[in-house]
Amino acid sequence: MTPALEVRDLTVVYRDAPALDRATLAVPAGTLAAIVGPNGAGKSTLLKAVQDLVPRVNGEVRVFGVPYRQARLRVGYVPQRTAVDWDFPTDVLDVVLMGTYGRLGWLRRPGRAERETALSALELVGMRDLAHRQIGQLSGGQQQRVFLARALAQQAELYLMDEPFAGVDAATERAIVDVLRGLRAAGKTVVCVHHDLESVPDYFDWVALLNVRVIASGWVSEVFTPDRLAETYGGRLGLLTRIGMA
Ligand code: ADP
Ligand code: MG
Repeated sequence: MTPALEVRDLTVVYRDAPALDRATLAVPAGTLAAIVGPNGAGKSTLLKAVQDLVPRVNGEVRVFGVPYRQARLRVGYVPQRTAVDWDFPTDVLDVVLMGTYGRLGWLRRPGRAERETALSALELVGMRDLAHRQIGQLSGGQQQRVFLARALAQQAELYLMDEPFAGVDAATERAIVDVLRGLRAAGKTVVCVHHDLESVPDYFDWVALLNVRVIASGWVSEVFTPDRLAETYGGRLGLLTRIGMA
């Protein structure tokens, strides 16, 4: 089967040192996939480079077997929440409606159908009641849900999410997990940058261990091992002890 996302020899250099060094991986379609690795490992860079948001020195990206440019509308992106200006004066529904713009094309404005799509997406993340709240007045968990709803409204097939669980409360974490599982049940593919190693086996099917290079990638049951984690995190074994793997 054609992978949902295929990255070959992807290299990104910001100034002089590579943030990503010949990263190669193939995420099977219909899976929940995690990208894990220490701070500065190039995880966010990988998600951005896949979408041509940062220039790559080298490498090839295919989404469902075709170059990203041809599959752009099939890819939904949830950026890292902290990378966004939440003081921008707009309400929740408008942000979620943005998810429908790609399909609308130029000249058409969102109408009733798009509004319904956006409201259903908000319902799915438990935020429908807050549709007219200014985004600056939301909690961190609510902001994350809005981002998720915007991606859902896009009706993509591959979702790229940068730390969707960062800084959210337990209720939001459960709500997000439910949404991710629903996406998988609908045959979608989700690739998340994820920082909590402990929950990887519970939440994800597939994992890539990244530290500038891809240390390993594959099914969690095969790849998520103490040796590979030690290699990825530079042998900081305290961490592995904490999660009961060493
Ligand atoms: P991660 O998401 O794994 O924490 P990033 O992909 O954000 O890592 O960053 C990887 C490396 O590239 C880090 O050393 C970071 O400082 C650097 N970096 C990220 N973005 C930029 C940028 N726009 N300009 C220069 N360096 C950057
Ligand atoms: Mg990051």
